Amino acid sequence: MTTENTPVSTDFIREIINEDNRAGKHNGRVHTRFPPEPNGYLHIGHAKSICLNFGIAQEYGGLCNLRFDDTNPCKEEVEYVDSIMEDVRWLGFDWEDRLFYASDYFDQLYDWAVQMIEAGKAYVCDLSAEQTRQFRGTLTEPGKNSPYRDRKVEENLDLFTRMKAGEFPDGTRTLRAKIDMASPNLNMRDPVMYRILHAEHHRTGDKWCIYPMYDFTHGQSDSLERITHSICTLEFENHRPLYDWYIQELGIFAPRQIEFARLNLTYTMMSKRRLLELVRDGHVAGWDDPRMPTICGLRRRGYTPEAIRNFCKRIGVSKVDSVVDIALLEHCLREDLNKRAPRVMAVLKPVKLVIDNYPDGQIEEMEAINNPEDAAAGTRLVPFSKVLYIEEDDFREEAPKKYHRLTPGQEVRLRYGYLVTCTGCVKDPATGAVVEVHCTYDPATRGGNTPDGRKVKGTIHWVSAAKAVDAEVRVYDNLFTKPDPGDVPDGQDYRVNLNPKSLEIIPAAKVEPSLASAKINDKCQFERLGYFSVDKDSQPGKPIFNRTVTLKDTWAKIEGRGAGGEG
Ligand code: ATP
Ligand code: MG
Repeated sequence: MTTENTPVSTDFIREIINEDNRAGKHNGRVHTRFPPEPNGYLHIGHAKSICLNFGIAQEYGGLCNLRFDDTNPCKEEVEYVDSIMEDVRWLGFDWEDRLFYASDYFDQLYDWAVQMIEAGKAYVCDLSAEQTRQFRGTLTEPGKNSPYRDRKVEENLDLFTRMKAGEFPDGTRTLRAKIDMASPNLNMRDPVMYRILHAEHHRTGDKWCIYPMYDFTHGQSDSLERITHSICTLEFENHRPLYDWYIQELGIFAPRQIEFARLNLTYTMMSKRRLLELVRDGHVAGWDDPRMPTICGLRRRGYTPEAIRNFCKRIGVSKVDSVVDIALLEHCLREDLNKRAPRVMAVLKPVKLVIDNYPDGQIEEMEAINNPEDAAAGTRLVPFSKVLYIEEDDFREEAPKKYHRLTPGQEVRLRYGYLVTCTGCVKDPATGAVVEVHCTYDPATRGGNTPDGRKVKGTIHWVSAAKAVDAEVRVYDNLFTKPDPGDVPDGQDYRVNLNPKSLEIIPAAKVEPSLASAKINDKCQFERLGYFSVDKDSQPGKPIFNRTVTLKDTWAKIEGRGAGGEG
């Protein structure tokens, strides 16, 4: 193995690979795979597995396959296959011509099953599912042999052939491996290899009415693809002896399985079953709802592949289950958006600011910096006029002590505009609500500069009322109110922890005119408010912005590096 194929950063998985390479195993060849079951959309946990498998292949000059583990025709759909491919590509990975389906191996698996029957290693069992469970025993008690365990090879071959031919109803028979009903590992107690299921498969149609179990499929699929390192999550640790047993009995290429701890995130749920429930029961608008931890949800929310890949790199891999703070994911996102997202001005809760001494009808074009983190991003012109929109919150008729924004008598900087001094407000006589804030400006402070060097504490953002573009803004928060959504009182389920305030729709925000031409998925920073991404529901001239993440970086605070954005 050459040094260039030994990555710098290391963890226990890469250590194992380095060791295998030093020992000359597979002549230094490294071949991994990402094996999703097409029964749902990919989520951020899958991203960890994708980055690991494709990342390792890249680092070692090896290959990574995409393989659909499609052994369960009842729950699998083409919609999921398509979305999975889209998401893996979007994350920045390429399986080239190595797209595989476990269902492509059904013929081979059938032949192997026959081979095992012939070798006396498998038998047809007539126990029902319930009986099979009872016979299996428990962790503390050994199982009991099935009364069908000693069937003759000929009878087994005959029955298995007839199972395949469709002679028997669902669930009446199974093919089981003859291993050891007293094994301390329950997976080794004569596991089912094939079940009868008269169901149409999304790829093989009605060709089969018996389907191999995942455990009789996964290891052999790895073997057929000559996977050197089969990386999977910890729950498969107890299945490894079974995979190894099949491989050994069949005398075929032996991949090495390595298990790691799956990703858990605070305020997030990652079970595909539950995510499906959220979608079906309408708790979210779909798999790509920006509150979902799915890859397509994160994408719609405004996440970038770079941020997700960086997050996966930072969390690393280990053998110990843990929960990662969602603040770290958001921190990685801010780090990326801070570099790439142009700054713009938008007002979410608008109130008019009237500059009484500014000429009626005059429009000035003010130069604004697009991104202070990226000189190449240049500047743009933002129209300034007598009537502006500012945030409701940026005015207080009676202000507390450290309030540096607009309040009668106080001078404030309008970002890239002028310094203005608040003179008062106009209220709706009926409701008492502030409808207009009034001020005067100092013409000597164009661009927000103070030639005399005087200081103002507050800077606020604004949009010209004459030129503003109407926009809808969707402000998202965590989907769950608790760090562990599964933490619920007896008799209730995770749904009691759904956050009723996870989405606030702001129908009438005002944004600067440069955003009229924003395209779907464009990212920007609304100054002082957060990062936003243009939603796919946007219409020409009526953009919809999803709040991707706020500016306040709680992770940076945890790391002791101070707050990220302006407060
Ligand atoms: P299911 O319960 O339907 O099997 P799954 O989450 O295991 O759900 P798969 O499609 O089997 O989904 O997963 C594909 C790959 O992604 C597997 O190798 C699995 O181990 C890995 N994976 C799934 N969830 C996580 C997670 N939270 N963290 C890391 N890897 C994961
Ligand atoms: Mg799985």
